[in-house]
Amino acid sequence: MAVVENGHTILSNIIATQINSHKRFGGVVPEVASRHHVQQITRCTEEAMAQAGVDYDDLTAVAVTMGPGLVGALLIGVTAAKVIAFAHHLPLIPINHMAGHTYAASYVAPFEFPLLALLVSGGHTELVYMQSDYDFEIIGDTRDDAVGEAYDKIGRVLGITYPAGKEVDALAHEGQDTFHFPRAMLEEDNLDFSFSGLKSAFINTVHHADQLNETLDRADLATSFQAAVLDILVGKTLRALQTHPVHQLVIAGGVAANQGLRERMHTELAKLPNPPQLLIPPLRLCGDNAAMIGAAAHVALAKGIRGDLHLNADPGLSFDTRTA
Ligand code: ATP
Ligand code: FE
Repeated sequence: MAVVENGHTILSNIIATQINSHKRFGGVVPEVASRHHVQQITRCTEEAMAQAGVDYDDLTAVAVTMGPGLVGALLIGVTAAKVIAFAHHLPLIPINHMAGHTYAASYVAPFEFPLLALLVSGGHTELVYMQSDYDFEIIGDTRDDAVGEAYDKIGRVLGITYPAGKEVDALAHEGQDTFHFPRAMLEEDNLDFSFSGLKSAFINTVHHADQLNETLDRADLATSFQAAVLDILVGKTLRALQTHPVHQLVIAGGVAANQGLRERMHTELAKLPNPPQLLIPPLRLCGDNAAMIGAAAHVALAKGIRGDLHLNADPGLSFDTRTA
């Protein structure tokens, strides 16, 4: 829950993490997630308002994530937002979660179009081309697993609890790329991704060694995995920049916190004759948060995007405004 001024100034940004209860199950359990949302939403709202030092009369609008995601969790947010909007006569603005991740980068610098966004998170791996504000064209997508999901699954094999991305990233800075895992679809003439083959190759390598009672170097495994991931993400992004020249390149979503990805993209862009400006949100705005929804909502408000009290959560909400 966040209070944001003009889409630029974050007055408060309260994040209630449920990671500890999900760690026990190795991932997000939908029922547990919904229950946490119910328990936390009032406290988070009060805290966000108090920290921002504002009253409901000071607000211009209330925005809420309507999808995609887990329907139970989304419904709690949508219901809370409707209540606030109804009680305080405020416009209601439905926001796509991935639009939020994208606009997290607008806190770094105002967007200039055309813009390319590499969205990398627990459920998405997408290349999105934007010719203007709030105009999203998905030009590349994963055919199977999302990259964050791959991090979490291989992390589990390394004995790292969910979410594993941050720890795998740290471990990857300590080893060598000795395993040479596959880089699926990298040479193919398209902008799509695939991570399930890489994930399987990793898991098979570790299981095979287990059967032989061999112990593999965890840092080398993490380094080799991350090297493959970065080759794929950076390779496809550079390919997209050739067909879609842009002013700015955004990297956003939970995996945008990856230090290896940040470093590698900087290095590769510096080699281009006319590189786009690279916008990556600060770490606390990479993972899920409400300030990013506020930034997107500021633009959506100006575009006239509104919900009414019939607004419903949409767990499979499409992001592409060209096909929606
Ligand atoms: P989506 O946004 O696609 O709906 P989500 O909201 O569950 O999915 P986010 O919260 O945006 O996902 O991102 C969480 C993901 O980011 C997890 O898979 C986590 O492992 C990954 N992640 C976080 N930090 C890092 C890092 N440093 N390196 C790699 N992955 C990371
Ligand atoms: Fe997310």
